[in-house]
Amino acid sequence: MIRVNQIKKTFDDLQVLKGMSLDVQEGEVIVMIGPSGSGKTTFLRSINALEIPEDGAVTIGDIKIDYSQKPSENLLRSLRSQIGMVFQNFNLFPHLTVLENVMEGLVTVQRISKHKAREIAADFLEKVGLKEKINEFPSALSGGQQQRVAIARALATNPKVILFDEPTSALDVELVSEVLKVMKKLASEGMTMIIVTHEINFAKEVADKIVFIDNGHILDILKPDELNNKSNSERLQKFLNLIE
Ligand code: ATP
Repeated sequence: MIRVNQIKKTFDDLQVLKGMSLDVQEGEVIVMIGPSGSGKTTFLRSINALEIPEDGAVTIGDIKIDYSQKPSENLLRSLRSQIGMVFQNFNLFPHLTVLENVMEGLVTVQRISKHKAREIAADFLEKVGLKEKINEFPSALSGGQQQRVAIARALATNPKVILFDEPTSALDVELVSEVLKVMKKLASEGMTMIIVTHEINFAKEVADKIVFIDNGHILDILKPDELNNKSNSERLQKFLNLIE
């Protein structure tokens, strides 16, 4: 359903993605791990065209963007409309209520009526356990609750895939599990997800595949039970020794 083919991305003189390819099937959960600065965030942002790669191609369903030519804004917009994203720092609008945050994309991008958008937003907020908070502003919520709003917002637009960029790393430890629990539920319901995280136990539990990125390359793609195999790259073994 998703095919990332040989994407390359350079910032100034630094080539951060050196030709990275990944296929993701519908309903698959991919967890990406790797050292700081290896390119994980840039890879996610290149999938939904928040960064524009200088070469390679990204296909989602029947939308294909070939970056060897300059893509049109229309094509980039259609690609982005198929993808939800959850950021490390939630990225909620502080001046909008929880309900309005989830409604925003539905009304302004998808042109759904306010009445209908309100219903959809309330349903997804209930799904992430925040029905009681819909009229609060983000500042009145804990980090874990804010991240659950961000997940509801991503879900509400009915994306083909949701990208999660270190969704729990800005949270106090006691709030991590409530966010992981929502993500586990989505995974069990068949949502296609690509997740960058350092939560290795979570990765082992929910991932169909674990992808190890190092220095702009994908070095290993493994099933969770293959993570500690002696035949894995030496770099992966070293990385796991550091974080486990
Ligand atoms: P971390 O785990 O620390 O978040 P990461 O694997 O997600 O790291 P990236 O955030 O993708 O790594 O960054 C990869 C490299 O690209 C880093 O050296 C970073 O400084 C550089 N980089 C990322 N975004 C930009 C940008 N907009 N301009 C210049 N350099 C950038």
